[in-house]
Amino acid sequence: MSTIAHSLQQLHERIARACIAAGRERHSVTLLAVSKTFGPDAVREAAHAGQCAFGENYLQEAVEKIALLRHDATLAQPLQWHCIGPVQSNKTRLVAEYFDWMHTVDRLKIAQRLSEQRPAHLPPLQVCIQVNMDGGMNKSGVSPDEALALAQAVATLPRLQLRGLMAIPEPAPEFHAQYAVHLAAKNLFEQIKNSASAGLEQWDTLSLGMTADLEAAILAGSTLVRVGSGIFGYRH
Ligand SMILES: *Cc1c(COP(=O)(O)O)cnc(C)c1O
Repeated sequence: MSTIAHSLQQLHERIARACIAAGRERHSVTLLAVSKTFGPDAVREAAHAGQCAFGENYLQEAVEKIALLRHDATLAQPLQWHCIGPVQSNKTRLVAEYFDWMHTVDRLKIAQRLSEQRPAHLPPLQVCIQVNMDGGMNKSGVSPDEALALAQAVATLPRLQLRGLMAIPEPAPEFHAQYAVHLAAKNLFEQIKNSASAGLEQWDTLSLGMTADLEAAILAGSTLVRVGSGIFGYRH
């Protein structure tokens, strides 16, 4: 078995254990493989091991990989691509044209451009609103008290499908600190859901947790963990 296939298998076991500990069904958590900085060969290897959803941060790098792998006859199914990095408003077109998901919507202007630029032949772009849960200084994300208003505005845009929230807390070495901030995101997620306005019919995604803190994220209610180094190894 290749190293990547082996890491994926171990990661699935880790996620399964976290689900048991949290009293959750295994299928309630999706694994997003974060392939930023790794080439198409690594993505192909993960895909051959059964992984189909991939996350990317850097647009130019991502677009080249996506275009290349789109025509790869060795892949059993089309790959699903998630943009998880910050995007400047003059780069939204690449996201609208190449990606299936966008996790980092944190202002209305970005969402409006994505909706306008989403090609007609593609399904709506699936989007999450990024929230800055812990006030991390150099981190993007809307503040928690502005998240509901942004969600309601994004929900009206015709070519976007609003799916939920995403957060990237400051790294915390200790489980309870990780859990506390993930739980705050979960509570905000539920609060917005209970506001029950139109356009929230598919409000089902909480994008939380990375290699170092996925157990705490799953215990708090994450439905999608974004794992890079735990699959592909260290990034240079
Ligand atoms: C890089 C990145 C990840 C993956 O981080 P690892 O620690 O390698 O698992 C997850 N989410 C975002 C937003 C990232 O930028």
